[in-house]
Amino acid sequence: MNTILEVDDLAVRYGGVRALDGVSVRLSDGEIRGLIGPNGSGKSTFIDAISGRKLPASGRIRLFGQEVTRLSAVDRRLRGLSRSFQRTSIFPELTVREQMSLAARRFGSDPGEILEALGLAAHLESLANQLGYGEQRRLDLALALVGSPKLLLLDEPAAGLSRAESLALADMLRALVRDAGTTVCLVEHDMDVIFGISDSVTVFDTGRVIAEGEPKAVRSDPAVRRAYLGSEG
Ligand code: ADP
Ligand code: MG
Repeated sequence: MNTILEVDDLAVRYGGVRALDGVSVRLSDGEIRGLIGPNGSGKSTFIDAISGRKLPASGRIRLFGQEVTRLSAVDRRLRGLSRSFQRTSIFPELTVREQMSLAARRFGSDPGEILEALGLAAHLESLANQLGYGEQRRLDLALALVGSPKLLLLDEPAAGLSRAESLALADMLRALVRDAGTTVCLVEHDMDVIFGISDSVTVFDTGRVIAEGEPKAVRSDPAVRRAYLGSEG
């Protein structure tokens, strides 16, 4: 399988905090990669650095074979890397239709199909702040899917969703990978969701990668158990 994302020796700092340190990760075309780790271990920082929201202190990021380490988030988006924003990208005063049109003008593709697939077609004229929470999360995902990205980064997409909504989301992501060949990299703290959906899992702890591999192997890795159980382990 082709490698579409190569991250080498990435370091990210917030003031004196080393949010990421010496992180190297590779993603293959068409895989679903789960990112897990305790709170504050650097998962969101990883997504921010890959998507161009936060520039690294050092290290290198190659996307689809080209170096993007210093490129803006919009430039990466135009190259086919998209991410969800946990509602921050939603303008409360615009309707679903208006937001999707804005995104489509910038990044291209037919939003109709996406809205249909995400069950938002009936809400086209609703303002974002009139939508229920689960619908807002789906709108955020719909906006990320405009332009048919090749790599989709999702930071806790199932946070706050009901069990049924989480399972529906997992099904939708699997269909996306199967039908559109999209590569998905997601942070999720529901272990059943992450181990159920991922082809492989990367485990972060205090800004470093401590384990990586197939879900089954990662789940039984002693270092992973220690990171989660702390001193009790
Ligand atoms: P996770 O998503 O795994 O919970 P984060 O990537 O959010 O972890 O955080 C990693 C580390 O970086 C933590 O120590 C956190 O406090 C710090 N951090 C994250 N974002 C910021 C920020 N905007 N300013 C300062 N410190 C931050
Ligand atoms: Mg986070």
